[in-house]
Amino acid sequence: MQNDMKCSKCGSDNIGEGKFGGYARLMPANKMWSTGSEVRVKVCSECGIVVGMYVKDPEKFKN
Ligand SMILES: [Zn+2]
Repeated sequence: MQNDMKCSKCGSDNIGEGKFGGYARLMPANKMWSTGSEVRVKVCSECGIVVGMYVKDPEKFKN
């Protein structure tokens, strides 16, 4: 993931990365046995807007 994201609200490129605490994983909707993937969140560290989210293991969501 490239680090050229900009905040859509304040225009800052000071974007940090976070993840949900605990076991907040995203599970594929059609694969009950999957362990899912960790979700990473890009956050503007100036105003707190969530700029984007992505899963760490996108290949787990292939049909
Ligand atoms: Zn911002």
